[in-house]
Amino acid sequence: MKLKYDIAIVGGGAAGVMAALSARSVNPKLKICILESKKTIGSKMRITGGGRFNFTNNKDISDFFCNIVRNEKFLFSSLYSFTNLDLINFVKKIGLDYLVEESNEEKIYLKSGNAMEAIEAFKRKLDEENIEVFFNKKVEKIEIDGDLKKIYSSDFLIESHGMIISTGGSSYPQTGSDGKFQTILKNHSYKIIDNKPALVPIRLRESWPKEIAGVSLKDISISINKNNEKIDSLVKNDLSKELYKLDKVVRRGGVVFTHRGIGGPAALKISSYINRVIKFVTLEVDFIPNFSSDEIYKIIKENPKKSVFANIKDLLPTNFVNVILREANMEIGKEYDLFKDNSSNLSKSTFGIVIKYLKKCKLEPTSLEDLSKATVTSGGVDVSMIKSSTLESKIHEGVYFAGEVIDIDALTGGYNLQIAFSTGFLAGKSLAEKFSFYND
Ligand SMILES: Cc1cc2nc3c(=O)[nH]c(=O)nc-3n(C[C@H](O)[C@H](O)[C@H](O)COP(=O)(O)OP(=O)(O)OC[C@H]3O[C@@H](n4cnc5c(N)ncnc54)[C@H](O)[C@@H]3O)c2cc1C
Repeated sequence: MKLKYDIAIVGGGAAGVMAALSARSVNPKLKICILESKKTIGSKMRITGGGRFNFTNNKDISDFFCNIVRNEKFLFSSLYSFTNLDLINFVKKIGLDYLVEESNEEKIYLKSGNAMEAIEAFKRKLDEENIEVFFNKKVEKIEIDGDLKKIYSSDFLIESHGMIISTGGSSYPQTGSDGKFQTILKNHSYKIIDNKPALVPIRLRESWPKEIAGVSLKDISISINKNNEKIDSLVKNDLSKELYKLDKVVRRGGVVFTHRGIGGPAALKISSYINRVIKFVTLEVDFIPNFSSDEIYKIIKENPKKSVFANIKDLLPTNFVNVILREANMEIGKEYDLFKDNSSNLSKSTFGIVIKYLKKCKLEPTSLEDLSKATVTSGGVDVSMIKSSTLESKIHEGVYFAGEVIDIDALTGGYNLQIAFSTGFLAGKSLAEKFSFYND
């Protein structure tokens, strides 16, 4: 079967759907279609925010950039063309209600807490706007011949003037974004930055965290130390941008110990920064950031006849305190026992060891959990091949990119969906403005 369209969009996730609707808002006459490999649009949207669709954040749009890990400057035009306020208005217009969770990093969710509602609303809107969606159509080949773009799936050929590529990353492949389209793009001379897992649990060399798998701490702080001995000049040149970024990274939030290391919000955020330099870094964790060393010293000395363990066990989950003080005890040796000896006998130097484990704990990351389990993909089409002001390809006129297929990723908080919607909006609008004369 062969069909002709003005604009064909490959991939019906957040970016592709928004690209179609934005193109339509520019020109009601354009023939627009979406090709989606799954049997529905937005399979990934459905599982975001634990199924509650955390689609953006309530912070000012200017504060979004420090939550973007890769290529934040590339996103200026996109995020200012379609801000979080624009997205909220759009969501309201298609009949959805939302709520802001102020105490939860100002994340914005659907009020109903049901992401399926968003999918249904998007489907209705695509229908109303006369946008054709072809389901179960996995694009396997494209040909770009000037103004003519040919898009092939196994039983299908679409010819179009303009094409928007919004095929997502390569994490959670069961949602349809399996990364394979990137190979097609490579064959069309696109530079693809290696895909790495981002927002994913971290595996650790140390074995003690594994003993308390399942235990969580509500508020810890993690920073990243570069291991200068391992960074030779070759590495320095290759990874200088990545390594430079690490100096300022400190992330606070919850953590959960796992069978292989650590997960939870703070660990997930750190994973996004170390995924390309994991061999060259160690983590430094403050397990009790709300208390200074002096305050902990005072608490320990408050009941001099009690042990250090007895004095601090209520500050953190007991099973954690048990394990971390056992580790500290091993370093202290025989002269003092944190579980048995009176706090009055604690020397300043032994206290230093306690602080080393509680507030400056070194952990060695060995690897990250697999890309298939990552919340987002780091890597994708190199931004140097795309014009940031329109999202048009620099090597093929009429080809545009939107969403996670581009080498951009952000932290948790609703930023990744906002990026998908904003880039979708800008790509759709730019392409429609360029091609609208066809149907005028
Ligand atoms: C478990 C989980 C939770 C998340 N939670 C949040 C959250 O709370 N907040 C947030 O902001 N972000 C969250 N994210 C990230 C967010 O979902 C993504 O960044 C966003 O959905 C990316 O949108 P996209 O349209 O670029 O790509 P996708 O949503 O991946 O869409 C790409 C689409 O392209 C289709 N496709 C791929 N290849 C082809 C092909 N060859 N032919 C045809 N179609 C193709 C796929 O089937 C898919 O439908 C979460 C991700 C996961 C996995």
